[in-house]
Amino acid sequence: MLEDNANGLWRYTSTREKLSTLLQELQNKSIIFPFELEQLQRQAKAFSQDNNNHSPCFISGLHKDVIFLPSSHDNNSIDILINRNTEKLDFITQLPSKYALQRQIDFWLNNLHKDQIIALFLVELDEFSKVNDVLDHAAGDIVLYQAARRLEKLPNYNSKVVRLHGDEFAIVVQGFNNIEQAWEISSWFESQFKTPFIYNELPIYVTPSIGISAIPYVASNYIELLRTAYLALNKAKEDVTRISHFYEAKHAKDLIRELSIKTELSEELQEGKGIEVYYQPKQSLKSNKIEGIEALVRWRHPKKGLVSPADFIPIAEESELICRLTDYVIHKVCKDLSKLKKSGYHHQVSINISAKDFARNDFISDICHIVKQHKVNPKDIELEITEGAFISDVNHCSMLLNALRGFGFSISIDDFGTGYSSLSYLRKLPVDVLKIDMSFVKEIESSKTINRIYSALIEIGKALSLKIVAEGVDNPHQRTTLKSMDCDMIQGYLLSKPLPLDEFCEQVLSSTTI
Ligand code: C2E
Ligand code: CA
Ligand code: CA
Repeated sequence: MLEDNANGLWRYTSTREKLSTLLQELQNKSIIFPFELEQLQRQAKAFSQDNNNHSPCFISGLHKDVIFLPSSHDNNSIDILINRNTEKLDFITQLPSKYALQRQIDFWLNNLHKDQIIALFLVELDEFSKVNDVLDHAAGDIVLYQAARRLEKLPNYNSKVVRLHGDEFAIVVQGFNNIEQAWEISSWFESQFKTPFIYNELPIYVTPSIGISAIPYVASNYIELLRTAYLALNKAKEDVTRISHFYEAKHAKDLIRELSIKTELSEELQEGKGIEVYYQPKQSLKSNKIEGIEALVRWRHPKKGLVSPADFIPIAEESELICRLTDYVIHKVCKDLSKLKKSGYHHQVSINISAKDFARNDFISDICHIVKQHKVNPKDIELEITEGAFISDVNHCSMLLNALRGFGFSISIDDFGTGYSSLSYLRKLPVDVLKIDMSFVKEIESSKTINRIYSALIEIGKALSLKIVAEGVDNPHQRTTLKSMDCDMIQGYLLSKPLPLDEFCEQVLSSTTI
């Protein structure tokens, strides 16, 4: 009989002859898996045949989890102690844990035949938290349980499924020697998500992201296999066009690059060096004067020279770094405003705000604190926010925007037309300006459809009493077309590239333009 023992162990006492019943009991409890049972059986046999053995025996490969002891009661019996925790099944999915994954991989590695492949598939459910939030946690649990049952059914290969944590599963697969088969296996996993999961008769559709890695191709042991599969999973999560990604060496390079950008940028912000703010003008199509300026950040890297924000903003946006950067830019713009005013400029300067800033609790108090510190009137500042920042909770966002406008800041929706562009949110949000994304301007001359869409976007903005700014205008023909469409302002290389403060004041803010 298997007995629970207070020290987190199973204890089994058997006569040396009757070990097979132990194996059956272990299998019934799913605490040891077939390959280990064979190993256990061999060890147990060897131990029981050695009648002179009076010292404990640790099973190799199972570490200290299974111990054979000669029974203290009777010479013909042995005690077998089994660590109960190592194979504990996950309560929700009834799958073993990460620990079992390592043991399975180690075991297969020790018995690997030439040319055989061991592939690891990390499967993460996209936006799984929404299932918990929108329905309830019981729905989330059911989806995880059903997903586990589907993943377990991979036909034709030896496989083991474990739940790593949260909505992350790992499936290690063996029994093939052509790497192309890894793709076939991955498509089989993908296909398991085509039919909905069912909770209280309600269909729930969930899509996965899958990261794949394989021994011996890109890894030679468990640690490398897991690390590379995670890197591939990150790529899969970023890529909206493909579900599965196989690890490539450049994933690691990308990650190293991102890490170094994060570290260096954080140091630059700490020391207040290297981060600069450039300015680009916006011109009114009615007065032909400069009636707006956008502040655009630049990073003067000691080795790489001037780095474009497109290369570091998305990385900064992955962490709180973006909030530090935003605060830095707001400080700098507040300082520069006095020089801009001295040069005769008396309109607003706009600052780009990322979705993460907008979501942070203390954003309003932080920005109000900074402008107050510099004795700047919030009326001199416009905040450019992209559509993506508004989709989570329109009511909450409109409350925040109302508060910001209450302090005097203006609000502009940046890159309009590229994101969700839903009329219902546009109607609800208290904003002042619509900046139409530059991708439309590029085709305004060549495509009649784009031309009509642009016109319609302007009309929608006008109907909502918003000021319209066209971004990316780089030739006079675009300017004429936009003017005929009753667009209010333009911004783009036609007027000027973004420039450092001094050059901006000298070259752009000449008396003829303001
Ligand atoms: P954005 O807010 O849409 O800024 C406009 C971008 O278009 C700027 O690129 C500007 O240099 C560029 N641009 C302006 N006129 C033209 C044109 O006629 N043709 C073309 N092809 N491009 C034009 P930049 O400065 O490289 O900034 C890229 C993006 O980085 C910005 O897009 C914005 O999303 C982000 N960004 C820049 N500065 C900041 C910042 O201080 N904070 C945050 N959160 N994001 C920033
Ligand atoms: Ca912008
Ligand atoms: Ca923009």
